[in-house]
Amino acid sequence: MRMNAWISLAVAVLAWGAAAAAIGARPADVDAARIRRAETDGRDWPSHGRTYSEQRYSPLTQINDGNVARLGLAWTQTLDYERGVETTPIVVDGVMYATGPWSLVYAFAADTGKPLWKFDPQVDRERSIRACCGPVNRGVAVWQGKVYVGALDGRLIALDARDGKPVWSVQTFIDLTRSYTITGAPRVVKGKVLIGNGGAELGVRGYVSAYDAGSGKLKWRFFTVPGDPGKPFESPAMAMAAKTWSGDQWWTWGGGGTVWDAMSYDPELDLLYIGVGNGSPWSRNKRSPGGGDNLFLSSVVALRPDSGEYVWHFQLAPGEQWDYPATAQMVLADLPVDGVRRKVLIQVPKHGFVYVLDRKTGKLLSADKFTKVTWATGYDLKTGRPQETEEADYTRTGKPTLLYPSMLGGHNWNPIAYNPNTGLAYFGELQAGAIYAVDNNATFRGGNSRFNMAQNFPAMVGAPELQAQIERERRGSLMAWDVRAKKVAWQVEQKLPISGGTLATAGNLVFQGAADGRLVAYAADSGKVLWEITTYGSMPGGTVTYSVRGQQYVAVGIGWGGAFPGMFADGAVLAGYTNPSRIAVWRLDGQGKLPPPALRQAKVAPPPMTAPIERVMLGVTLFATHCGFCHGPGFGGKQDLDTMAPDIHENFSAVVLGGRVNAGMPSFHEQLKADDVQAIHDFLIMQATMRKAKEAGVPQQATEAQR
Ligand code: CA
Repeated sequence: MRMNAWISLAVAVLAWGAAAAAIGARPADVDAARIRRAETDGRDWPSHGRTYSEQRYSPLTQINDGNVARLGLAWTQTLDYERGVETTPIVVDGVMYATGPWSLVYAFAADTGKPLWKFDPQVDRERSIRACCGPVNRGVAVWQGKVYVGALDGRLIALDARDGKPVWSVQTFIDLTRSYTITGAPRVVKGKVLIGNGGAELGVRGYVSAYDAGSGKLKWRFFTVPGDPGKPFESPAMAMAAKTWSGDQWWTWGGGGTVWDAMSYDPELDLLYIGVGNGSPWSRNKRSPGGGDNLFLSSVVALRPDSGEYVWHFQLAPGEQWDYPATAQMVLADLPVDGVRRKVLIQVPKHGFVYVLDRKTGKLLSADKFTKVTWATGYDLKTGRPQETEEADYTRTGKPTLLYPSMLGGHNWNPIAYNPNTGLAYFGELQAGAIYAVDNNATFRGGNSRFNMAQNFPAMVGAPELQAQIERERRGSLMAWDVRAKKVAWQVEQKLPISGGTLATAGNLVFQGAADGRLVAYAADSGKVLWEITTYGSMPGGTVTYSVRGQQYVAVGIGWGGAFPGMFADGAVLAGYTNPSRIAVWRLDGQGKLPPPALRQAKVAPPPMTAPIERVMLGVTLFATHCGFCHGPGFGGKQDLDTMAPDIHENFSAVVLGGRVNAGMPSFHEQLKADDVQAIHDFLIMQATMRKAKEAGVPQQATEAQR
């Protein structure tokens, strides 16, 4: 054979390989070397935060500040259930692995959107009553031919990447009677699948577990708060932590400290970083009546990934009692600090400060406010402790107290992006306060009771003048924070205060989904809007970018849900649309168009208000206690309850007591009696009537032109 023929054959073989990549599922042979290579090779999105350093920064430049206006839809797929989509899609070898509501896993051809397989773990729909924030899921991990998903009900499931068939499945919850849930994405480090869980609002004890990626065998488990000191401690770290707790009940309440989202890994230091959640119950005087720091609540903890052995910790909020978890994304970067290059860990959690730690030692290098903060004035960098304000300890004063940030945080879990070349970090800032009030009579009720937070819900939603202040001051922005200079580089105010995760690229771009339904591309250096498109929904999770056969794509999950719906209306709802869950992908010169979702039912007049005021007041308390977490704490449900259709009003009792499990609403027959449901309904009718009176003269349904 002549040389040319050899070349032709080689080209043909390569082309065949590319064609196979385009149509079929692939082995997804991700390993540590490949994840590290992704630091400089932008083709894949192989791990949750793209690489182990979780910077969510892509070196791809095909889409850039000069041409981003040419972005058009490449493909979209609708997911099965109309709930929140918090996924960060993983993309390997031209295949996208994403999760949807109820922990479903989907594999798509990343360039065409062709469905390759789907896996439904068949989560018991009643489980959502044990979830703080709906049946959401933040994504999978991919490692050596397997795809790993943490299901809401606690199962960690390994799937064959080629066909989505389960290979192994383990139950990760230590106590099925407690209200644990998994919404976070697993990470794989050194052949171990790491997974935590959530539930600190409902009375659980936090921990993270490591399973062998091949067999599913449990390798180690690190508890984040001590258990009953009458029993042997699981580790020296727990013996140390127990000295910072007091009283004789914390292990009954659970203590909290769930590891429900962030983990990062430094291969050179061989340190795994976990973010530890808030206290359970919230109020320290119930949890630990003699005070104390309550380790490792609200802490970043460094562990050895081989053994789960404790190395160091930094506690952001000692004795935490504001639902300020240290679970936000932990970005690993190298930074010059006082002229010396340091390996740092950057976290922008609910607390309202940008924290920079030395990630070798855990020493606090800086903590700077980025939004309105009233619980602390700053940090003592020598001791690493916050300087708390007088009013911060509301459980000591026993008075309802307005504090900033709220339990929604100055920035919540929504992914952040960090450009290692410019030192700019991009995240959604939220200025929102909340009233905190302790319930001194609370006792642990077990199960899924919201009373396990030991908060006085009626007091928290009372105080109209404080609520008015909260409403008045509520705002939010996309913030570019200069980590080196410790100040805002630029800031873009948002129409609706909550906004989604961010993505930064070497093309001088930052992408972010806004709560008003727009996906926006900003110039990373100036914040100038370069491209925007309506998605008719919200994008709380992470936008990602990748490349297939030389073509760069930008992808995002769309679906309003999670912790925010009760607090803030989203763009789709305001514009009168329903909320389908979707994945949508754009590329330069894409010719597709995202179809608008179906319209919601027009607002209708509520039934006449006839209830006595005592019953409405009972309804306020019951609503705040049982319904507010999903439908809005005391505001009558900005999401949907003031637009209930006539048939829902007629069947209100059946809906509440029987649930609408496919829609994600559990039944409340164990929590509420028929009279209670009537009182809640009366309260909602009153709310809707008052709102209607207030809106009199305002068109109830946006016209097509206004959308
Ligand atoms: Ca929490």
